[in-house]
Amino acid sequence: MQYKRILLKLSGEALMGDRQYGIDPKRLAEYAEEIKEVVNKGVEIAIVIGGGNIFRGVAGASNGMDRVQGDHMGMLATVINGLALQSALEEAGLQTRLQSAIKINEVAEPFIRRRAMRHLEKGRVVIFGGGTGNPYFTTDSAAVLRAIEIEADVILKGTRVDGIYTADPEKFKDATKFDTITFKDVLTKGLKVMDTTAFTLSQENHLPIVVFDMNKKGNLLKLVSGENIGTVVDH
Ligand code: UDP
Repeated sequence: MQYKRILLKLSGEALMGDRQYGIDPKRLAEYAEEIKEVVNKGVEIAIVIGGGNIFRGVAGASNGMDRVQGDHMGMLATVINGLALQSALEEAGLQTRLQSAIKINEVAEPFIRRRAMRHLEKGRVVIFGGGTGNPYFTTDSAAVLRAIEIEADVILKGTRVDGIYTADPEKFKDATKFDTITFKDVLTKGLKVMDTTAFTLSQENHLPIVVFDMNKKGNLLKLVSGENIGTVVDH
């Protein structure tokens, strides 16, 4: 295996499947199978899950809601998704722990770095909910932060496109995909991989990012086995 310990970032929207809102149990079960294949190869895996399928703070703010209040709702949404994912992973026969950045002790462990790392060593899948625990941040930032903290080899950003393109492939037919690209080139070419806070944190801490299509069966395993699918962002 190319990677020993990975952090997988899944957006909340990915959990919607073909729905407009909420969680698609079929999609969750598919993801659980993909994750199980990787765990069975002995790879340690932590997951940060978004909340955009349920609530986004900025959306609340654009409707006149206090931004911080909205972000609190968004963070709780990530805990809901985390619980759903945990349930699907356990259904698939995996051992899991959900750790939350905001205290919600009856439903999730608090985030404790050393404990998270110990869970991983024991082969448990660790899901990080609650984002960073702070408003005005995103779950991409939470993903990079946690990846650095737990000393993950790489952050894998599962999306609906299969990598980073010269332009939006859904709009421009002649857009071409990068197999690899440097952090610097992403910035100079004005490409969007993550929000600036998350991207800079990754760059400064030498954490490579791989953008790949999580919805294609077998892709996660191919990626951790060292196959060149998706786009690798590195120095
Ligand atoms: N959020 C937050 N702090 C964090 C992470 C998330 O306040 O550290 C809130 C924010 O309102 C955000 C929402 O949670 O809009 C859902 O997270 P995100 O938009 O990153 O989810 P995704 O786009 O990955 O589904």
